[in-house]
Amino acid sequence: MRDLDSYDCDAPMFAPAAFRLGDAQTDLIGRARRFGQRVLAPRAAKHDRDASFPIENFRDMHAEGLLAICIPEEDGGIGADFQTYCIAAAELGRYCGATALSWNMHVCSTLWSGALSDDLDMSPAERRAHRERRRIHYRRILDRGAIYAQPFSEGGAAAAGTVAFGTEARPLEGGFLVSGKKIFASLSGAADYYGVLCTQRGEGEAASRRNTLYLAIAADAEGVSVVGDWDPLGMRATVSRTLLFHDAFVPHEAMLLPQGVYFQAASRWPHMFLTLSPTYMGLAQAAYDFTVAYLRGEVPGTPAVKRRMFPTKQIAVAEMHVQLEQTKALWFQAITEARADPTKEQVLRAYAAQHTVMENANAIAVKALRTCGGQAMLKSLPLERIYRDSRCGSLMLPWTAEICLDRIGREALYQPGETDE
Ligand SMILES: Cc1cc2nc3c(=O)[nH]c(=O)nc-3n(C[C@H](O)[C@H](O)[C@H](O)COP(=O)(O)OP(=O)(O)OC[C@H]3O[C@@H](n4cnc5c(N)ncnc54)[C@H](O)[C@@H]3O)c2cc1C
Repeated sequence: MRDLDSYDCDAPMFAPAAFRLGDAQTDLIGRARRFGQRVLAPRAAKHDRDASFPIENFRDMHAEGLLAICIPEEDGGIGADFQTYCIAAAELGRYCGATALSWNMHVCSTLWSGALSDDLDMSPAERRAHRERRRIHYRRILDRGAIYAQPFSEGGAAAAGTVAFGTEARPLEGGFLVSGKKIFASLSGAADYYGVLCTQRGEGEAASRRNTLYLAIAADAEGVSVVGDWDPLGMRATVSRTLLFHDAFVPHEAMLLPQGVYFQAASRWPHMFLTLSPTYMGLAQAAYDFTVAYLRGEVPGTPAVKRRMFPTKQIAVAEMHVQLEQTKALWFQAITEARADPTKEQVLRAYAAQHTVMENANAIAVKALRTCGGQAMLKSLPLERIYRDSRCGSLMLPWTAEICLDRIGREALYQPGETDE
């Protein structure tokens, strides 16, 4: 097997000079792209067909340092910033959407507890304790390749951010007893820790979103089980089954954020929810790349028949190109301006970017299938998987395509606290 650095690779999605990327981030993003093409792409079809989790991808990502991409440098990780992580994740999404999406769940456990939490308010004592605790999680990842999942969804309104999570953590000596249910838990059965959002609730206390806790629960803890089957349309290799917690004991050191800080993050660092979009940005690029290669007669394993000379194909590719460039430009701007306390315009742009990526990834894949024709939808080729995977993006909470539109419409027309009374 050739060394990653010498791997003959696709062109970058975001050319470093054009998008003014620095040397270090260019190197890291290039490494992710070569890894995706060499390691992820050849394994993607089998895991999609079997709906099996690509655990070997995660073992290889550990060896490559990618599990530690957002662990701060001072704690032994790569310390990638938000923009760098997003572009690297998009590059992985080009080659295996399900791996990129699952990897995102893992990386967010380190990004949110790492660089993002450094922007939030904590007392000095709280920050010291948080840094000590997060180091425990980071060492597990760095030393033994521990994998963290991020199961938030419960099938009700909590994952959309409107009510408190139904999964509850009852405080007791040394930690919490957690009970509840999470649906669509990507990496279920494969992760070593489940980064669960739950509501801390003492005896007689009302449930409040302000008391949301972010706890890493060991997969082998007593009271934790994985149930149900997994046979979805797309993103099949995420293996997102249901998790049940029944009085699972979780020690204090399992807190990925201090009490109250998740609530603060959700309101002050809203771009944290944009992290599901890179995978789909990569899928949009993949659908376009496939179409160009196919019409040129250059897709490996297919006859070298050229179809590029038909004006209808040229127009279709032109339309896809325009849509892809529009999507990339808006998305790049949104990931570049992610920060604490963004302006109202920046938040609206983040919703617009999420909506655009999630809807356009699928629209471009639909057009790719129609343009390339019947032979291109065979399961021996990646396009039909890209098409199915891309359909999932707009469904993902908390920023589904519908919720993005709902918020843009409301927030564009009303100032905070404004009513029509
Ligand atoms: C492949 C895949 C992997 C996933 N992995 C994970 C994971 O690892 N962790 C995780 O936590 N979740 C994960 N999810 C779950 C995902 O984020 C959603 O929670 C899930 O798709 C919700 O499905 P639902 O039918 O229960 O949605 P519902 O909550 O019933 O919503 C249905 C639709 O109604 C709309 N809607 C819901 N609430 C509102 C509202 N307040 N205002 C306006 N519109 C609203 C939304 O547009 C939504 O699409 C994954 C989903 C997929 C498809």
